Amino acid sequence: MPAPTLLPEENFMTINKPVALVTGASSGIGEAIAVKLVAAGYKVYGTSRRGVQSDQRPFAMLALDVTEDASVEHAVRELLQLEGRIDLLVNNAGFGLAPAAAEESSIEQAKAVFDTNFMGVVRMTRAVVPHMRRQGSGRIINIGSILGVVAVPYVALYVASKHAVDGYSQALDHELRTHGIRVTVIEPGYTRTSFESNSLEADAKLDLYEDIRVKVTKVVNQAMATAESADVVADVVLKAARAERPKLRYTAGKAAAQLQWMRRFAPAGILDTGIRKAMQLA
Ligand code: NDP
Repeated sequence: MPAPTLLPEENFMTINKPVALVTGASSGIGEAIAVKLVAAGYKVYGTSRRGVQSDQRPFAMLALDVTEDASVEHAVRELLQLEGRIDLLVNNAGFGLAPAAAEESSIEQAKAVFDTNFMGVVRMTRAVVPHMRRQGSGRIINIGSILGVVAVPYVALYVASKHAVDGYSQALDHELRTHGIRVTVIEPGYTRTSFESNSLEADAKLDLYEDIRVKVTKVVNQAMATAESADVVADVVLKAARAERPKLRYTAGKAAAQLQWMRRFAPAGILDTGIRKAMQLA
């Protein structure tokens, strides 16, 4: 009888690695999360609408557009064919709108923000949860924003899409806990990425908001210049992924922690005044 073939150590390690899927890993926060998870011993698949771009990254890339049902199904199927399981889903794909008044975005633009930032999370969750339920375990980490719990003006649609992510995550965590799945939402503050350059300009601008748009854009640009790195968010994601009893929400970065503290402990009037002062509103 031939001696059994021993698995090479590399294969053995691969087989035992938890499998993670990170949406929007071509840049910024998603890329930092994917790199961090690889270093922590996860088998990581990142995604981009442009598909596999290069083999420079330490993780594999899948093609995915979170706004398309078929693309979501295809990416998840591909991952399961390759790995047979999924232990961690990080819903990170998202974009913002350049500062503008709420009424300066058309309904089409409002739908587009929600289609990626919120419905993208819903599509990915629906595709992955049946597999996690069958496994009896899994983690879903949604990249929300501190603006998902504290609303600031002139980014109303973005704020609303991240509030939707926060509410969905809360409800989902209650539902899925009994199946061994936990859901967490991460709330970063300003983070230095391509986020600003990928933000959409309002498509229904009105002259009366020109001055305030310029003013708020200046405030946002100043904040972005001193923003924290995407690594700060990635560290928090790893902490949440590894936590035996993960919290529902984690802030990422100093500014987000300060805002969350004010939201919890300061009278509402003080937070309201603080927001108006920070945005230099009369
Ligand atoms: P980036 O613009 O650098 O990255 C956005 C990522 O999302 C890209 O990898 C892009 O991939 C992907 N993406 C965009 N649209 C889609 C789509 N329809 N389908 C699939 N992937 C998509 O920005 P950040 O890294 O800053 O943003 C990541 C997340 O962090 C977002 O959810 C954002 O709201 C959140 N966030 C960011 C903050 C910041 O200050 N930067 C603060 C708080 C939260 P590709 O174009 O290759 O498809």
